Amino acid sequence: MLVSKNLTINSENHLVIGKNDTVELAKEFGTPLYVLDEDLIRENCRTYKNAMDKYYNGNGLVFYANKALCTLFTCRIMAEEGLGLDVVSGGELFTAIKAGFPMDRVCFHGNNKTATELEMAVENNVGYIVVDNDFELDLLDTIAAKLGKVQDIMFRIKPGVDAHTHSFIQTGQIDSKFGVALENGEAFEIIKKAAGLSNVKVVGVHCHIGSQIFDIEPFLKAAEIMVNFIGDVKAKLGLEIDILNLGGGYGIRYTKSDDPIEYDKYIEHVSEVVKKVAEERNVKLPFICMEPGRSIVAPAGITLYTVGCVKDIKNVRKYISVDGGMADNPRYIMYESEYTAVIANNANAAPTETVTIAGKCCESGDILIKDTKMPEIRVGDTLAVLATGAYNYSMSSNYNRIPRPAVVAVLDGVAKVVVKRETYEDLLRNDL
Ligand SMILES: *Cc1c(COP(=O)(O)O)cnc(C)c1O
Repeated sequence: MLVSKNLTINSENHLVIGKNDTVELAKEFGTPLYVLDEDLIRENCRTYKNAMDKYYNGNGLVFYANKALCTLFTCRIMAEEGLGLDVVSGGELFTAIKAGFPMDRVCFHGNNKTATELEMAVENNVGYIVVDNDFELDLLDTIAAKLGKVQDIMFRIKPGVDAHTHSFIQTGQIDSKFGVALENGEAFEIIKKAAGLSNVKVVGVHCHIGSQIFDIEPFLKAAEIMVNFIGDVKAKLGLEIDILNLGGGYGIRYTKSDDPIEYDKYIEHVSEVVKKVAEERNVKLPFICMEPGRSIVAPAGITLYTVGCVKDIKNVRKYISVDGGMADNPRYIMYESEYTAVIANNANAAPTETVTIAGKCCESGDILIKDTKMPEIRVGDTLAVLATGAYNYSMSSNYNRIPRPAVVAVLDGVAKVVVKRETYEDLLRNDL
């Protein structure tokens, strides 16, 4: 089992993704190289969509959280698969517009959207803006009035749930920069205020408790709290909330010890809570939105590198350096995230030693995988780091003036470049 189910090994002992030999891909397109399995992305979209249809009788919509991997290519796939799209910045919105994404299925998030971004969203008839705070509510109402529109909005609510994940990616607790809290009455007050404004229409409430979460409990708890809140709003303000957006955050397998529940099961259990509490509180069943990002694209991606320097510091550590690193995958340096690597040209070999896979940037923290068991790695080997489809390309940088790698999508043995490799000239594009 190679962490992701779409990976196999061929008779030459090479790692294969979507019927493409990864060693050949590295030769043809160069390294570092991001490779995406289009089939698996689509399959993941359908898993979510089918589960929503099944457990909410089609009364729901899956929004792909674009920040996980935002390209024209992925936006077009989401449009074709009938998903909605979350955007969190003008740049992501621009990408969606250029991809021809239907704007009524776009949801705009963020804790500090600028006036320019809000204007762009309203002008382009974005389906929903998830309002984060009081300041933004006033700003948006003014902008919508100026443009002669009434904007559908949801509110980002902190349900006060502890999501058991890395503190940097925990977002449901009161001490968070995102949203308004329930426990101090902020959430209630802002909805009351919005109900009195003319150029926004409150259609939904939203929560997102964090990312890379494996337990189902925090999701169930959040759903229960949110439906109860909808009940409170109806009872106290006479206002019916039509949409409940439950966010994303479903965990994926980066290493063999990660054991995510099937997403279908999450949705089934959450739907039971939603239905039960809605009935108890005598509110109509809300239209349900969810926003997976990582779990749609991460397992579908791998990154290929070429091994350079091997430095064996006796009795200390053995460093294997590759031709990429924190510029194309900053997740170790940010969160000490764990990954699995495979020698793409010797994929069946048994692990024999513990090594640390390092990048080429001028930072000691520029590590891809610390202390991992690997077969003997040689200079020139092609190394594949698995499950890099989310938060790698989208978090990449030009640190050390390293051009970003190309993104190649594979489908049925055919590989196509969907994002070109940056050139040195690209790096100078804005220098005057
Ligand atoms: C990041 C984010 C998501 C997606 O989270 P994943 O862990 O990638 O599924 C969904 N909704 C909001 C509001 C987010 O900020």
